[in-house]
Amino acid sequence: MIVANYTAHFYCDCEACEEASNLEQAEYIGESWAQVAKRARKGGWRISADRTRSFAPGHKVKRNSPSKAR
Ligand SMILES: [Zn+2]
Repeated sequence: MIVANYTAHFYCDCEACEEASNLEQAEYIGESWAQVAKRARKGGWRISADRTRSFAPGHKVKRNSPSKAR
């Protein structure tokens, strides 16, 4: 029997968390990246297409292009 788990830690990359140096975080466990990502999205997390950034539920997604001030 083989039990393989995939654990991913998501840290929020939004500006508010960055400025507060207090990154919202969550841990998701599944059998693969796809499953973990699916669970995280279901939990409200936003994940960038290149899998490098994530944003906590309800947090403002930071875009690469210059955005207007709040
Ligand atoms: Zn955040």
